[in-house]
Amino acid sequence: MKCPACFNNLSEIQVGSLKVDVCQGGCGGIWFDAFELQKVDEEEEAAGGHLLDIQRDESIKVDLNRKRECPRCEGVKLKRHFFSAKRLVEVDECPNCAGYWLDAGELTRIRAEKSRPEQSGEQGRPNISSDFIRYLYKLQGERRA
Ligand SMILES: [Zn+2]
Ligand SMILES: [Zn+2]
Repeated sequence: MKCPACFNNLSEIQVGSLKVDVCQGGCGGIWFDAFELQKVDEEEEAAGGHLLDIQRDESIKVDLNRKRECPRCEGVKLKRHFFSAKRLVEVDECPNCAGYWLDAGELTRIRAEKSRPEQSGEQGRPNISSDFIRYLYKLQGERRA
């Protein structure tokens, strides 16, 4: 398979239970077949650690604005979109085979994004001070008296 970003030949590497195609010595991007990305996109998934530092040629600049073709499906263009609702990292997805192309550094950012705690309702909860609770007890006591 050819790299969709720099046209180098992709090399298949085995990480844990999955095989991915990386642009080793080229732009350092990674191709994930459908459902493979989900196995390495969280920081506690050790297999993904091997993919964070792909050997690459720093002089290769990839053009993020150029439409890329899926390395698996002939003539199908990848669609660039945000990886999650947090809208921090953009990835290229094939609308035909559901594979993902990640440029160098994007997996690191996706894993960092996933490990960030969700914005929960914690901050929205009113902060009841102990003074206020004491005041409520006092009111109750007065009512009983
Ligand atoms: Zn490449
Ligand atoms: Zn495809």
